[in-house]
Amino acid sequence: MTAHANVDPAEVAKFEALATSWWDTEGESKPLHDLNPVRLGYIQQCCQLADSHVIDVGCGGGILSESLAKNGANVTGIDMGKMPLDIAKLHALEANLIIDYQQITAEQKAQQAAEQFDIVTCMEMLEHVPDPASVIQACSDLVKPGGDIFFSTLNRHPKAYLLAVLGAEYIMKMLPKGTHDYQRFIRPSEMAAWCRQAGLEVQDITGMTYNPISKTFKLSEDVKVNYLMYCRKALD
Ligand code: SAH
Repeated sequence: MTAHANVDPAEVAKFEALATSWWDTEGESKPLHDLNPVRLGYIQQCCQLADSHVIDVGCGGGILSESLAKNGANVTGIDMGKMPLDIAKLHALEANLIIDYQQITAEQKAQQAAEQFDIVTCMEMLEHVPDPASVIQACSDLVKPGGDIFFSTLNRHPKAYLLAVLGAEYIMKMLPKGTHDYQRFIRPSEMAAWCRQAGLEVQDITGMTYNPISKTFKLSEDVKVNYLMYCRKALD
């Protein structure tokens, strides 16, 4: 991979290694599969997917991209990992879905396609990027005025260290050790400030909590571990 200012090759390499098991719902991407219905439901509560133009930033193997497409959105998926994108392309072909997957950074895509999208999604990606504020600015640039943006990430809260790092990686072994670096987790207040700086109005912050017995996530008021942030770009 060629060097890009806002890409950490070590972070992207973690997902290159995961790529072949991306669609194994019981494999190392299980947490993403478990999160997916909840975040999709949240997006659908906030906006209309049918016939919309959506860009999924840091799409990986396409778990969310495919769900968006199945619900009638025209989807572009971008990521800097080549292997996850190859898997995403193959899987979309098998699923008979047309999704435009591209290996490009959010910042570069924003220069090419400013204000082209009705909806931007950027899920579980910001905690892997050196400068998350720059990605948030790029997401804001990509969306049309009045458009909707959805972020999700992990909170830099001790409970997230316990559950998402020690619990998921070391005790339950749901994720490979080292998948998440606690120092890169983002507090909702930091994320909200970056969103406002990027011209976005924060509409809502909602937690996603994991029930280890039922092995499902649900939306909740507890934002200490995983959370979603829904923003709207101000009209001109
Ligand atoms: N959004 C997907 C995948 C999350 S995994 C989902 O929630 O299902 C995180 C993804 O971010 C990986 O695919 C990784 O390759 C990608 N990524 C990490 N840093 C990136 C960067 N700087 N630019 C684009 N993608 C990046």
